[in-house]
Amino acid sequence: MSNATSIVARIAYLASDVIVDSQPTLPSTSQFAKKYDSLSTTSVRRPTVLSVPLGGDPGSTLLRSGPGAALISFTSSATAQTAIRLILCASELSSLPLVLHLAVKDDLSDVSLLRSAVPFFLVSTTAQKAHDNSLLASRLARTEKKAVVHVFYEGKSDSVEEIVEGDVQPFLLSEKVASTNGVNGHNGHANGVNGINGHSVTAQSPVSELFKLYELAALSTVARTRRACPPLSVRAANEPHTVIFALGDIPSLDIDGVSVVSVGLLTPLPSSRILDAIPPSASRVIVLEQVHRWNMKWTPLYLELVNAIQQQVGEQRPHIQSVYFSEPAQVTPSAIAKLFQAAPSSTPLQLGGVSGSSSPSPEVPHIPKHESSYTKILSHVFGERLEVSNSPALVPKQGAIATSPEFALGRVRGQLELRNELTRSVQQLMEVREVSPELHKLLSQWTLVKDDATKSRSVGKELITALESSKLSSSLVDRILSLRTHFPSRSRWIIGSDAWSYDLGASGLHHAIASGLDINILIIDTLPYTSRNSADPHRRKQDAGLYAMNHGDVYVASVAVYSSYAQVLQAIMEADRHKGPSVILAYLPYQNEDAPALEVLKETKLAVDAGYWPLYRWDPVKEVQGKEPFTLDSDAVKNDLQQFLDRQNHLSQLVRSKPELATELVSSLGENVKEARRRKALQAYDDLVVSLDAPPLMVLYASDGGTAERFAKRLANRGKARGLSTSLATIDSMSIESLAQEEHIAFVTSVAGQGEPPQNGRTLFKALNATALRGEKPFSKLRYSVFGLGDSHYWPRPEDAHYYNKPGKDLDARLEQLGGERFAVVGLGDDQDADGPETGYRVWEPLVWKTFGVDSIEVKEAEPDPITNEHIKAASGYLRGTIAEGLEDTSTGALDPSDTQLTKFHGIYQQDDRDIRDERQAQGVEPAYSFMIRVRMPGGVCTPQQWLQMDQIADEHGNGTFKITTRATFQFHGVIKRHLKPSIQDINKALLDTLAACGDVNRNVICSAIPTLSRLHAQVYDFSKLVSAHLLPRTTAYHEIWLDKKMVAGEAVKDFEPLYGEFYLPRKFKIAVAVPPTNDVDIYANDLGFIAIVDERGELAGFNVSVGGGMGVAHGNKKTYPRLADVMGFCTVEQGPIVAEKVMLTQRDNGNRADRKNARLKYTIDRMGLDAFKAEVESRLGYSLAPARPFTFDRNVDDFGWSTGEDNKHHVMLFIENGRIQDEPGRDFKTGLREIAQIHKGTFRLTANQHLMISEIATEDVSAIKTILAKYKLDNLDYTGLRLSSSACVSFPTCGLAMAESERYLPVLIDKVEKICEENGLRNDSIVMRMTGCPNGCARPYVAEVAFVGKAPGSYSMLLGGGYYGQRLNKIYRETVSEREILSILTPMIKRYALERLEGEHFGDFVIRTGYISPTTSGKEWYDGMGGEGEYREAAAAA
Ligand code: SF4
Repeated sequence: MSNATSIVARIAYLASDVIVDSQPTLPSTSQFAKKYDSLSTTSVRRPTVLSVPLGGDPGSTLLRSGPGAALISFTSSATAQTAIRLILCASELSSLPLVLHLAVKDDLSDVSLLRSAVPFFLVSTTAQKAHDNSLLASRLARTEKKAVVHVFYEGKSDSVEEIVEGDVQPFLLSEKVASTNGVNGHNGHANGVNGINGHSVTAQSPVSELFKLYELAALSTVARTRRACPPLSVRAANEPHTVIFALGDIPSLDIDGVSVVSVGLLTPLPSSRILDAIPPSASRVIVLEQVHRWNMKWTPLYLELVNAIQQQVGEQRPHIQSVYFSEPAQVTPSAIAKLFQAAPSSTPLQLGGVSGSSSPSPEVPHIPKHESSYTKILSHVFGERLEVSNSPALVPKQGAIATSPEFALGRVRGQLELRNELTRSVQQLMEVREVSPELHKLLSQWTLVKDDATKSRSVGKELITALESSKLSSSLVDRILSLRTHFPSRSRWIIGSDAWSYDLGASGLHHAIASGLDINILIIDTLPYTSRNSADPHRRKQDAGLYAMNHGDVYVASVAVYSSYAQVLQAIMEADRHKGPSVILAYLPYQNEDAPALEVLKETKLAVDAGYWPLYRWDPVKEVQGKEPFTLDSDAVKNDLQQFLDRQNHLSQLVRSKPELATELVSSLGENVKEARRRKALQAYDDLVVSLDAPPLMVLYASDGGTAERFAKRLANRGKARGLSTSLATIDSMSIESLAQEEHIAFVTSVAGQGEPPQNGRTLFKALNATALRGEKPFSKLRYSVFGLGDSHYWPRPEDAHYYNKPGKDLDARLEQLGGERFAVVGLGDDQDADGPETGYRVWEPLVWKTFGVDSIEVKEAEPDPITNEHIKAASGYLRGTIAEGLEDTSTGALDPSDTQLTKFHGIYQQDDRDIRDERQAQGVEPAYSFMIRVRMPGGVCTPQQWLQMDQIADEHGNGTFKITTRATFQFHGVIKRHLKPSIQDINKALLDTLAACGDVNRNVICSAIPTLSRLHAQVYDFSKLVSAHLLPRTTAYHEIWLDKKMVAGEAVKDFEPLYGEFYLPRKFKIAVAVPPTNDVDIYANDLGFIAIVDERGELAGFNVSVGGGMGVAHGNKKTYPRLADVMGFCTVEQGPIVAEKVMLTQRDNGNRADRKNARLKYTIDRMGLDAFKAEVESRLGYSLAPARPFTFDRNVDDFGWSTGEDNKHHVMLFIENGRIQDEPGRDFKTGLREIAQIHKGTFRLTANQHLMISEIATEDVSAIKTILAKYKLDNLDYTGLRLSSSACVSFPTCGLAMAESERYLPVLIDKVEKICEENGLRNDSIVMRMTGCPNGCARPYVAEVAFVGKAPGSYSMLLGGGYYGQRLNKIYRETVSEREILSILTPMIKRYALERLEGEHFGDFVIRTGYISPTTSGKEWYDGMGGEGEYREAAAAA
C-alpha cells in the first residue's frame, strides 16, 4: 500500500463521522478500504464507512448520508467517471462539510474537471503534504461547511511526521487562529502560511472571501503542524525573466533567471496572489501542468493566469505559454530551456512529445478547432454512447446534407423508431413458449435496463451472444439480431451553429424542438461580444433558448465553456437525462481559428458579466416535482429572459397567493400558469410563422419619465400580436451605421428641457445632425415614422411654441433629409388632449399597421390589463410578496419590480445611481441599484444614543451620510441589497423602525419643535406617537422578513389589518401636529393636521382638525394640483387618535383607486365636497366635531439659535443645509454631531424644515456643547435670511423620479440670489425659497414664497406668491426657466421688493400686491392666472 493513500485514509477515518469510499473494478479492492479495516481494530473512532460500487452514484450517496454529519469524507481513485458524477450534483455537495480525497497517479486532467465546481481545491505532491492538506481540508470543510477537493499523488512515500490520533478531533474543534493582520486577512510573511510577498486580498469578491476562509484554516494547521502549507510555494530567482507556475508532480528545478511557483491551492486563487508571484522583471510566464489527457485547448489554471495578468493595468504584460507533460522525467532544465527558444503561441506545447492530433480527412468538413472544445466534452462524457446525428464524418457517405438539422432530425427519428421496434421484438420474443428460461431472463433484463447508459450495452451484448448461439427458430430472432446496433442506449445530439437562430422556423430547429423526441441540440454561438452590434445587423437573430423555454417541456441551458466548465458538464448531463428535447446554447466567441486564449476568455467574460450571455439551466421536470425549474449560473440576466422569468414568477406567485385574483389576472391567458405558457408557446410559433412573410419592425424610443417608453412597448407588443417580428430598444442603442441597415423603424420620443431629446436619445440625435451637416444620405433603405409626445401648453409664450414636440418633429425631418422614406406621417401626442397623448396615438398607430399590411388583422387576445399597485398590494400576502426570496437572489442588485412597491410600506425605496445610469446602460450592465431607507420616528425626537446608532448605520451600510427629511426623520441612501437586512436590524436595535415610513399608509407623524414651550411639546410629542402607533399597519411581514421573527399565525394569509384591510390606502397619508404661532410643519400641506389649541390657562385644550392638504402634481396634467388643507372642526386630545382613524378610513373607502394620480385625500375631498366628507367622518365617529377655535400662525421657518424652555432646559437650533449630515471640507458636521451625541444627556429634535435642534441641555452642560459647536462651526448662523429659509428635496443622484437637480443645486443658486438680496439690503430678510427635482413636491415647494420645480436637467418651473407661514399656495410664474432666466427675473423683483415693500410685508404677499402674480385661492384654481399677470407676462418674455 502506498504511503500517501494510507496517510490520507487515516486522517479521513480519524476526522470524519461518515466516509464514503468508491470501489475500483473487481476483483481489486479499494486501497482506502484496507486501511479503514485495519483502523477499525486499532482506533477508538468508529465512523460510518459506506462503499459505492463502480458505476454507482457517489454524489447521491454523499447527499443522503450528509445531513447531520459534522464531517464527511469521500475517498476514491480519480477517474473521469467519478469526477463527472460528482459534478452532476456539485452545487448541492458544495454546501456540505465534505472532503473529496482523490488519489491520482500521473495526470490531473480528470480531477481538474471538478476545479470550478467546488469552493476549495488543494493539491498535494508529497506524502507529507497529503497528510497536512488532509488535516487542513478536514478542518476547512468542517468549520465552513463547504466542500473541499483534496487531490494527492497515491504513489508518494516520502517520510511523514503524522499527527497522533488523540490530537485530530481537538485540532478540528479548536478555536480559529486569529488573523495577524486585522479584518482584511493576514500577510503571508507574518505567519508563514504564505511564502509569497503578501498582498492583502481585498474584501467583497467571493474569491477573496473564500480565500480568507482558506487562510484561517491554513493558519490553524500551521499552528498545529509547524509546517507551512502555502497556496503557492515560490522558489524565487533574482530578477527572473521567466516564472513557471507548476501544477503536478514536478522535480525540483534550478534554472538561472527562472522562478518556480508550485501551486498547492487551485481554488480559490485570487488574482492578486498570482500577480504577487510575478515580479516586474518577468517577461514570460509558463504554465506547466501534468494534464496530458486534458481534452480542451486551454486548462483552467492557464485561463486563471491569463485572467490575472489581464488585470495588470498599464504595465508590460508578460507572455503566457501553456505547457503540459506526463512524466516528471520530461521536466528537465534543458526541456524548459527549449521553451525559451519557441515563439510565443496560444497553442499549448507538450514537453517530451508531439501532439497526437491528426489533420482531418479532406472529405470531412473542417470543424473549427475552437468548436471542438464542445464536441470533445461530449465525447469525453458519453464515450461510445455519443451519437452526433449530423456529424461531419457522415459527409463522405451521405453528402453535404448530412450536417443539416433536418437530416439529423430525420436520422434520429428513424433510429428511435428502429429502437422501438427492437424493444417490441424483444417483448414479443419473451412471449414465445420455446424461449429458454436463461434467454427469457436476459430478454426481460434488457427490457428493464434498456434506458440505462451502461447496462443496456452490457446486457445487450450478452443477449446478442445468447441469441446467436440459440437454436430457436423464429423470425423475431433474426429481426432482433438485425437491429443489434440499437441495444445500447445512446445520447443523441445535433450540433449546429447560431445561424439556425436566424430563422428558427425554416431551420428545422423548430421541428426538432416541437417533435417531443428525446434529442439533444447543441447550438454554438461564436459571435464575439464586442462585434455583436456591427456583425450582420440587418439580420435578426432569435433567442432559440427563450423560444424553446416557451414550449414548456424542453430542457434549455445556456453555457460558456470558458466561463464555467463545470456548468457545461452539468448542462450536458442534465440534457442527456431529460426525456424529451433539450437545447444547449453554447458560447465560444472568436474572430478566427487562431484567436488567442486571452481574446476568447475576454470576450466570454464580457458577454457573461454583461448579461449578454447569461449562464442558466431550465429544467421543466423540476417544475413538475415542485422545485424551481430555473437555475441562474451567472450573475447577470438579460432583459428578455428576465421578462420571461418575471412572467413565470409573477403568474406562479399570483396563483399561489391569491387564487381568485390570479385567475382574473391571467384569465386572458388561460386558467393556470401551464395553460398560459402553452398558449404563449403557440402564439410564439404563430408569430414566427407570420413574421417570416412580413418585414421586421424595430421600435426605438427616447424617454426620460417613462411615458414614451410605455407607448413604445405598447407598439412593439401590439406589433407582435399582429404577427410582426418586432424588437424594441432605446434610440441611443443605435448608431448611424446600424440604423442604415434597418428597413422599418418606428420612433417614439418625448421632450426634455428646452425642447431637447430625452437623455437616452441625445447621442443619436447629435450623430444625425452631424451626418446631415456633412451632406450624407445614408438611409436609402430606411422607412420610418415618428410619434412624439409633448405638451402644447408647456410653452405658453408664442415664441416658444416651436418647442412643443420638437424632438419628434426634428427627428422626422432629419431622417427624411438623410435619405429615409416616411411610411406614416409624424404622430403628435399632446398632454392637453382629452385623453392626453393617447388621443394622437390612436390616430397614428393604425397608419403603422397599414404600412405592414396587418391593419385588418384582428387581435383576438386582449392586452392583459396592467398590473396595478392595487393588484400588487392585494396579492402580496399582507406586504410580503417575494421580498424575502428577492433578498436571497444574489444575481441582481435589485428586487422584483412588484416587490419594490411593497418595500415602500417597509420604509424602503429601490433607487439607482442616476449619475451613472447611462454609462452602465452603455456597458450593458444593470443600473447601480441601491436602496433608500427611511426611519419612522414620530415627532422627530431621538436620543443621543439613537443618533450615534444612526451615524454608525450610515457608515456601515449606507453612503456614509444621512439626511434629515422633510418629515423630520432620518433617511439613509446608497444601501445595497446585501446590507438591507442588517440595516433594518440595526435600526430596530436602536429601538426605531422603518415600518410605514413610506407606502400607501399613514407615514411618519410630525410635530412642531417648539423649544420654549416644554410642557406643551411633551404633550404634542406624546400625541404624535399615540396617533402613529394607532395607525400603524399590523402585518407581521415586517418582523418576519427583516427581523427573522417567525409568523405567529403560521400562514401569511392569516394576517389581519384591522384598519387597512388587504388593499391598504389608495395613496400615502400624512399627518402633522402644529403648535401656533409656528407652522414649522406646514400643517396645510398634510392630509390631516392637528393644530394645537391652548386654553386661557396655557393648557392644551385640544386640536383644530384640518384635512385635505397635499403637494404632488404631475407636470402638464391639470387633473393634478396642490391643495391646502381645510380646517373642519375641533377635537379634544383624547378624541384625536380616533378622529385620525376615521378621517383615514373615510379616505380608504372613498379614495380613487383607479388612478394613483388622483388618489390623495385632497382629490377625495374636492370630489365629495368638504361638508359631505366631514359628515362621513362624523357619522363614523358617532358625534359631531366641535367648531374650530381661533388661532394664528406667523411663520413656517425654524427658530435658529439658543433658547430656554419653561423647565429651564436649553435648546439650540442648528442650520443643516437641506438636512444632509455629512463631513465636508471645513464643515465636519457629522463628526461634530457625533461628538455632541457622545456627551449630550438630553434629546435631538429633527424638524420638518430639515434642521436639527439639540434640545433639553442642562445649564451645566451648555458650555461643553457650545465648545463642540464652535469647534465644528455648527454654531454658525451667519447666513442670509434667504438661505436660512430655504429647503430642497434629495433629487439626483438617488431619487428615481428626479427630473432636475435639487439638493445639490439649490445652495449654488442661493449663492447667487443672496448676492442680489445683500446688494439690496435684504441680507437678514427671510424669504421662503424651496426647490424640488420633480413636481412630487417632497420639500413642499407649492407653499413657498418662491419655488423651483424640476422639469429637466437645468430647467425648472418657477412659482411665486406662497404665504410666508404656509397659508397660501403659490402659482406657476414661468413654466420653464434656466438659471440665467431665474436671475434675470429675480434681480429687478428683489430690488423692487427692497424699495417698495410695506412695513412687515413678506415677499410672497409683495409679488401679489404689486401684480406679478395673482393669489391662489384654492387648489382647484391653481392653474388660473399662471404665467404671471399683466405686464409681467411680457416682461418675463424679454428677460
Ligand atoms: S420631489 Fe421629486 S425629485 Fe425630489 S425627492 Fe421628491 S420625488 Fe424625488
